Amino acid sequence: MADHDVDLFVIGAGSGGVRAARVAASHGARVMIAEEYRVGGTCVIRGCVPKKLLVYASRFSDEFEDAEGYGWTVPAPTFHWPSLTANVAREVARLEAAYTTTLERFNVTLLKSRAVLEDAHTLRILATGARVRAETVLIATGGWPHMGPHIPGLEHVISSNETFHLPELPKRIVIQGGGYIAVEFACIFAGLGSEVTLVYRGQNILRGFDDDVREHLRNEMRNRGITVTCGHTVAGVEKTGDEFIALLSDGSTVNADKVMFAIGRRPNHMGLGLDSAGIRLAEHGGIAVDEYSRTSADHIYAVGDVTHRVNLTPVAIREGHAFADTVYGGKPTPVDHTNVPTAVFSEPEVGVIGLTEEQARQQLAKVDVYKTTFRPMKATLAGRDTRSFMKLLVDGITGRVVGCHLVGPDAGELIQIVGVAVKMGATKADFDATMAVHPTAAEELVTMREKAVSHGRAAAE
Ligand SMILES: Cc1cc2nc3c(=O)[nH]c(=O)nc-3n(C[C@H](O)[C@H](O)[C@H](O)COP(=O)(O)OP(=O)(O)OC[C@H]3O[C@@H](n4cnc5c(N)ncnc54)[C@H](O)[C@@H]3O)c2cc1C
Repeated sequence: MADHDVDLFVIGAGSGGVRAARVAASHGARVMIAEEYRVGGTCVIRGCVPKKLLVYASRFSDEFEDAEGYGWTVPAPTFHWPSLTANVAREVARLEAAYTTTLERFNVTLLKSRAVLEDAHTLRILATGARVRAETVLIATGGWPHMGPHIPGLEHVISSNETFHLPELPKRIVIQGGGYIAVEFACIFAGLGSEVTLVYRGQNILRGFDDDVREHLRNEMRNRGITVTCGHTVAGVEKTGDEFIALLSDGSTVNADKVMFAIGRRPNHMGLGLDSAGIRLAEHGGIAVDEYSRTSADHIYAVGDVTHRVNLTPVAIREGHAFADTVYGGKPTPVDHTNVPTAVFSEPEVGVIGLTEEQARQQLAKVDVYKTTFRPMKATLAGRDTRSFMKLLVDGITGRVVGCHLVGPDAGELIQIVGVAVKMGATKADFDATMAVHPTAAEELVTMREKAVSHGRAAAE
C-alpha cells in the first residue's frame, strides 16, 4: 500500500463514479476522483435531469388547452425559452454543488481535470501533469453522443448536449434518431410549439421496445403534429443564412432552424490509456467486465455507460455501489441486469419492464397476451384525441407476468411499482387478486381478464 497515493482512483464524477467514490470512502478507503467537465455527469448536467425539466415545461401547452373543457378560461399563453433554460441551468448548478458537497463530506479528494491511465496503477492528471498511484482504479467515464458517418454539413448538426444551451427555441427542428432520446426531444420541442420532423432510418421508432408500444407511440406522436419519417436518413445539411436544409436519403428536403442528431451513444474511453493498462473491450465496444464490474486488468473496474451494459442512471449507480461493497465492504455484490424497468418521457409517456411479446414468444413455450387501449378519463372533458395502451405478457405455463408495457400519462411512475411485482415473480393471478383503485388508469392492470391472444411454441415457430 505504501507505494500508492490512494486506495481508489475514480475516473469520472457522474452517476456511477460519485456513488462508488462515496460508498468506498464510507467503507474506509482513501479515495480520489477526477472530473474533466462538471460533477454530476451526464444525468445531472445534460441528461435525465435537465431533460425531465424540459419535459415538464413542454406539457403545459396541453394543460392550458385541456383546461377549457374543465371550465377554465386561459388567456393565450406565451412561452419564453430563455427563462426556461436559465431556470434549468440554475437547478443543474444546485445539484452539481450538492454532489460536490457529498464528495467533500465523505473526504473524497476531487480533482477538476481529465485523468488518463499510464499503466494499471498510474494516473496522469492532465490539468497539472501530476501522477497519482492508485491501488485500485474505477473507470466511470460514461458515454458520448455518436454523430454517425461523416455527411456534408455535419458541422451544423447539434447533439442533445447542445440543446440545453440553445439561445432560442427553434421554430422548426429536424431530429434524426429513433431511440428514446430522439423521441423525447421530438415531443419536448413539439410541446413547446416547434414544428418537428423526426427522421429515422429503421422501419419504426424505439427499436428494441414491444412492437405494439412502438406503433402506438408513433401514432400518438403523429396525432400531435410531429412528422415521423421512417426508412430514411439525413444525408446532408446545408446552411443558407440562418436556416438549415436537411437533405434526406430519398432526395426530399426539410427546412429547419436546427438539425439535431440523437442516433446513439458510444462508450467514452477514447484516449483513456486502456491499452497501457491491459484493459480489453467487449464486442459491443464497451469495456468488458464480469458481474462484479471487474475488467480484464487486475485491480481495474468499470461501471456505467462506459461498459455499455444497460445505459441508465440507476444501473450505473447500482453498479458503482455494488463495486464499492464488493471491494471495500467485504460483501461481494453482483449486479442483476434482468427486469430493469424503464421509461421514455415522450408524450404520452412509455413505461416498460421485462420481455417484449416477440422475446416472450422466442423464450417461452406458451405466452398469454392481455392488452387494452382506452381513452384516459381526463381526455374526455378536454376533448383530447389520445389513447392509452397497456399490455401484460404472461408465461402461459407458470402464470408469471414476464412483461408489462404501458403508454399513457404517468407510465414512468406506474412501471416503477409494477416493476416490484414483476421482480418478485408476481403471477397474473396475483394481479387479478389485487383490488382495483378506482377511478384510475392503473386499475386496468388488475382488471384485464380476456386474453387478446395466446401463443403456443408451434405458433411462435
Ligand atoms: C439526453 C439524455 C437523457 C437521458 N435520460 C435518462 C433518463 O431519463 N433516465 C436514465 O436512467 N438515464 C438517462 N440517460 C442516461 C444516463 O444519463 C446515463 O446512463 C448515466 O449518466 C451514466 O452514468 P455514468 O456514471 O456511466 O456516466 P456519466 O454520468 O456520463 O459520467 C461520466 C463522467 O466522466 C467524465 N469523464 C469522462 N472521461 C473522463 C476523464 N478521462 N477524466 C475525468 N473525467 C472524465 C465526464 O465528464 C462525465 O462527467 C440520459 C442520457 C442522455 C444523454
